[in-house]
Amino acid sequence: MTVWLLGDQLHPDAAPLQSDDHVLMIEAHGFAERMPYHPQKLTLVFSAMRHARDALRADGYDVTYLEAESFGEGLDRYFEANPGDSLVLQRPASHDAGARLKELVEARGGDCTLVANDGFLTTPDDWDEWVASRGGSSAGDGGGTYRQEHWYRHVRRETEILMDDDGDPVGGEWNYDDENRETPPDDWSPPPVPEFDPDEITREVHEFVVDRYGGHWGNAELDGFAWPVTREEALHALAQFVEVRLPEFGPYQDAMVEGEWALDHSLLSPAINLGLLHPREAVEVVVDAYRDSGGSDGADGADGAVPLNSVEGFVRQVIGWREFVRHVYRESMPEMSEANQLDQTEPLPEAYWTGDTDMVCLSEAVSHVRDRGYAHHIERLMVLANFALVYGTDPHELNRWFHLGFVDAFHWVTTPNVVAMGSFATDVLSSKPYASSANYVNEMSDYCSGCPYSHTKTTGEGACPFNALYWDFLKRNEETLRGTGRMGLMYSHVDGKDDEEWDAIRKRADAIRELGANGTL
Ligand code: FAD
Repeated sequence: MTVWLLGDQLHPDAAPLQSDDHVLMIEAHGFAERMPYHPQKLTLVFSAMRHARDALRADGYDVTYLEAESFGEGLDRYFEANPGDSLVLQRPASHDAGARLKELVEARGGDCTLVANDGFLTTPDDWDEWVASRGGSSAGDGGGTYRQEHWYRHVRRETEILMDDDGDPVGGEWNYDDENRETPPDDWSPPPVPEFDPDEITREVHEFVVDRYGGHWGNAELDGFAWPVTREEALHALAQFVEVRLPEFGPYQDAMVEGEWALDHSLLSPAINLGLLHPREAVEVVVDAYRDSGGSDGADGADGAVPLNSVEGFVRQVIGWREFVRHVYRESMPEMSEANQLDQTEPLPEAYWTGDTDMVCLSEAVSHVRDRGYAHHIERLMVLANFALVYGTDPHELNRWFHLGFVDAFHWVTTPNVVAMGSFATDVLSSKPYASSANYVNEMSDYCSGCPYSHTKTTGEGACPFNALYWDFLKRNEETLRGTGRMGLMYSHVDGKDDEEWDAIRKRADAIRELGANGTL
């Protein structure tokens, strides 16, 4: 028996590694050409795989590591040398990949047993039990939408994470979201982010990536490379986050500041998604920091304590959102990969490739992705996805852009976030779209004050593109959105506009789409 480890299954404590010391890893170079993935993503993945290989060997595992054009070609070579071998593979998180890989193995005379994927805190059975407990397939709310907040509370109860001895949430509340919407003062300096000096392996991989995938979109420089490639680096990144950025993580979770790409975000998604860190470890370290710093059950913490709103905010992202999108994806594929309930078909605005736009918010967010393969959650949701949504962009074109542009992108996590949460192409994950005008960006950032576009104007020259597009979006999609129940207030504003206003809004929205298409937004 041999454990076949994929590039996003690198945790040394994964269950299959406990019962077998033969390991197969395949670095499939052609696979990395299915899209022009960001060079930092490719460097990260291949370097992390090679470091995991060396760490396993140092721990006594017998690792066969193949550099191949494809999984098929790698398996050809493997089974030539090891005819009839039996492989054990953690079921890949992305839809259907397990069945496809199993077929490849069986076509070469081998055997492949799919076992549970160890990279998550909850299992498909946990999800099914929760769904059943809420009375059926739609979480018991009568519609087709799963509710993250219900799931989150369920997981807190089941795992006893951040719960007190009486079974109540620590601090008395489940959710401190309303304390997580501050913006930093003008004289605020951002805390440092960890940087990892590329070692010989990373440099070698990087050279190969630049050479082979030279035409891919995104900055290929290694200067300022912020992504852990080993387990030790990932643990260091977690410790650095807890020490330096966690206290402000909660309050500034939704903030955006010009020139700042990281703020107080953990930057841990690449490490967690590759398996260098288990989500449980990340949550435990954060909760321990809260308790160790004097934050006691039921209190908001003594002086110097890590604030509960930061700790709860982080826990919610990981055990609420991350686990939630994984299961919603499992349940909703393959339909989700084709969904487009709003029939949006516009091509992605040129600025998503060039970053060249007068809109400060969009230019900042795109440049963060191009430079580092990363933008934080609010930039992803309320700038990059929100703008594409109100502009009318095809959700699958947007999904492809997110996929190739981000270091932490994998089909199972990118697709539900982009197609469902960001584009509202299906209502399986939220019952209304995350659509907003310039108001949101103005409230949560300092972008608008220095932007040539006016966030207070809706129509006419110089009006912020978000505004006309937003109203046009609501009007265009009235039939689907008015009835969702949670859009009542928005549609009362729609109803308050007269024909003349609508005419001006439509003209401005059309003009913006033209600017978007010819790259002069
Ligand atoms: P933090 O803000 O520090 O959050 C802590 C952790 O919570 C993250 O590391 C991540 O593991 C988890 N998390 C939080 N929200 C989510 C979520 N909605 N889904 C999954 N995990 C979550 N996340 C990815 O890992 N890969 C993607 O390709 C991806 N694409 C996204 C696209 C869009 C349009 C949106 C709105 C969100 C996307 N996310 C994606 C989710 C989230 O934005 C990122 O996980 C987060 O920004 C990563 O940065 P961080 O580690 O600094 O996160």
